[in-house]
Amino acid sequence: MQFIANSSLLLLALRESWNNWTGERAARPVSVPQEKWSALQSTQGRCVHYPTIHYTLFFMRAMLELPLVFRQVCSALFRWRFFLLYVVFLSLSCGCPINGAGGEAQEGNFTALRVQMVEQQLRQRGIHDERVLQAMAEVPRHLFVPLSLRLHAYEDSPLPIGQEQTISQPYIVALMSQSLELTGTEVVLEVGTGSGYQAAVLSCLARRVYSIEILPELAGTAQSRLQALGYSNVTVIVGDGSQGWLAGAPYDAIIVTAAAQRIPPALLNQLAEGGRLVLPVELPDGQHLLRLRKWGGKVTREDLGMVQFVPLLGDRS
Ligand code: SAM
Repeated sequence: MQFIANSSLLLLALRESWNNWTGERAARPVSVPQEKWSALQSTQGRCVHYPTIHYTLFFMRAMLELPLVFRQVCSALFRWRFFLLYVVFLSLSCGCPINGAGGEAQEGNFTALRVQMVEQQLRQRGIHDERVLQAMAEVPRHLFVPLSLRLHAYEDSPLPIGQEQTISQPYIVALMSQSLELTGTEVVLEVGTGSGYQAAVLSCLARRVYSIEILPELAGTAQSRLQALGYSNVTVIVGDGSQGWLAGAPYDAIIVTAAAQRIPPALLNQLAEGGRLVLPVELPDGQHLLRLRKWGGKVTREDLGMVQFVPLLGDRS
């Protein structure tokens, strides 16, 4: 407040001093009759030395206060430095959120990054299911990561999502989705909702998706995010997914996005005949991504390669 008062005072003094110097007179306000205004002007004319001295002193005082005003500007900038830095950072990293056109341009950039991700990280590495590639090209991954990491959303790596958890690398999401061999008619269970990104991809590939998350905070955020983005065939459940989710069983496909110590029997039990279970499992030489198929009461197993996942919590398998 003190700063604003001092600045206004300075401006006023400068203006008045200038008017006195150039002999400019203020315009007659409409409410003051001409004769009264002329009388007032002539009175002012007779007393011209008083305002001149007054304004000169005023001006000198304002000049003396200049360093003080300068100091107050500096201290205000210093006091608000974090806020100012934050505004600058937001403007740079989000394409200036104050500007709507900037936001649209940023969305366009994300679409271009997504297409590049599909071509370079997925297709060139052997992801061939066109439905999976299409889903990966459509789901806005940047809306599933923390705001501060949006610019990294389409990079070839997992990213932190809070609570010591991660959103998986795009290639792994695509590889696991492809391994489920979905055609669009299936009911799928995902264990480990996390950000909800994998569930959104599955939503484009299957009829119904149940996704179970052990951490309530992550489940809540993912549920509202998926709802807001219109993935209406996904239901998020809070619970220990190592026990599956009996209410939705049997499942045509089950995907586990955290590494289990061993294959959870509950998941095999809840798998439909002909169903696929894709999950990372800790083996003596490290984590392996396995695909299990249930045929006529038998289970076959394929190794899809080595991976690195966060551990399956509350693993009671
Ligand atoms: N699919 C997620 C995504 O798209 O963001 C990433 C999953 S993150 C690698 C693993 C997730 O599994 C974490 O959110 C973790 O809390 C969850 N999780 C770990 N153990 C679990 C369990 N027993 N039941 C359900 N969720 C579990």
